[in-house]
Amino acid sequence: MRIFTLSLLLTSILFSFDNFDFYKKEGNVSGATLLIFGGIHGNEPGGYFAASILAQHYTITKGNLWIVPNTNKDSILHYKRSLHGDMNRKFSNISNSDKDLDTIKEIKELITSQEVDLVLNLHDGHGFFRQKYQNTIFNPGAWGQTCVIDQIKLDNNHSFADLGCIAQKVSDKLNQHLLQEHHGFNVRNTKTKKKNNEMKHSLTYFAINHNKPSFAIETSKELRTTSQKVYYQLRAIEAFMQIMGIQYKRDFELDSKNVKDITKSRGKIAINNNISLNLGNLRKILRYIPLQSNKNRLYFSHPLGRAVEADGFIDIYIGHKKISRFKKAIFPLLECGNNFEAIIDGNKKSIHLPSEVRIIDDIVFNAPQGHRLNVIGYTDVRYKNELGIKIAKSSLIKRFSVDTEGQRFRAEFYKGDTFCGMVILNYVARNNE
Ligand SMILES: [Zn+2]
Repeated sequence: MRIFTLSLLLTSILFSFDNFDFYKKEGNVSGATLLIFGGIHGNEPGGYFAASILAQHYTITKGNLWIVPNTNKDSILHYKRSLHGDMNRKFSNISNSDKDLDTIKEIKELITSQEVDLVLNLHDGHGFFRQKYQNTIFNPGAWGQTCVIDQIKLDNNHSFADLGCIAQKVSDKLNQHLLQEHHGFNVRNTKTKKKNNEMKHSLTYFAINHNKPSFAIETSKELRTTSQKVYYQLRAIEAFMQIMGIQYKRDFELDSKNVKDITKSRGKIAINNNISLNLGNLRKILRYIPLQSNKNRLYFSHPLGRAVEADGFIDIYIGHKKISRFKKAIFPLLECGNNFEAIIDGNKKSIHLPSEVRIIDDIVFNAPQGHRLNVIGYTDVRYKNELGIKIAKSSLIKRFSVDTEGQRFRAEFYKGDTFCGMVILNYVARNNE
């Protein structure tokens, strides 16, 4: 297990198990610990985007929140329920040759941790659960909009042993904040021990057999957007935290508009210590990106960020969504680590490599001798080196921007044949300053 501390994750520590990421958020005041799994099924984005928002946008002040946003990592990438057979049916027995064996072991290790008081497994399920059959969408066999329990009560004593009561409280709370009336939540008791053979192999049943209160939250696959599913997942998780006495803050108001914006946000990527790029509005293909031939080091601020590297390119994903393809231009890399001097809109500034700078009118870079600057899309072919030249947005060709708005451009520094790093020139409108 590797541990990273990232400056962008001040309030949590990211642990990387071999098969998934694990975020530990600990309050200053001690209290109960809630463990959450998102993405055990790769085609249920409500669960994994909600878990990733918890990891990025929530601070815990009392108690602890442990989050695995990408439990079934490769299935998320392929937007498949499960690549190697249903992962949520492997908890009672699993063969030694099963490809998910290590993941299952790591999940069990977390669930059985002494600190864990309650476990949630996040899903998007079919239809809308109703006690009486209405049609193929609204019926007692549907999973959508339910808080699922395996039995009414845990077999042994526990502060949160009353699974039925807790699930009902959570459903009642959710029903006070419905986006549409037919989204109403219900408790679905699978009565696993007595009848449901299939659920005996599930994550939640494994948990309750280790005396850990455990629930599945199922939003409906029939909801129109991922962000609607995320909205209900977050409301349900907050209801659980309230019941457990876990206190939290989030950096946004929980309404459907904000959840939509946050679900769509992609964060940033850092590559090889010399490229740093905001992934918002990125073009589908970016050409001639200075990279190594292989084993490029990529770090995402988004918990669901993934890179798939091939010979000539790297594909960039958030969850199952492909954001962009970076076509490689192979350059030896040199960590210049320099601060370069530039004049932005008439003011002298020191600019770190890599970074993004905001410009209203123009920028002029100065650099120590021996460096070369290539601004991608600069029109004047007389120059092979744009150091010392005033670069305004009007002198750049829009189709060379990194974003679809034609606002952000690449300024690349080279020393001899090696690539030093990139500065993104972000031309903002005057009234945005
Ligand atoms: Zn599922």
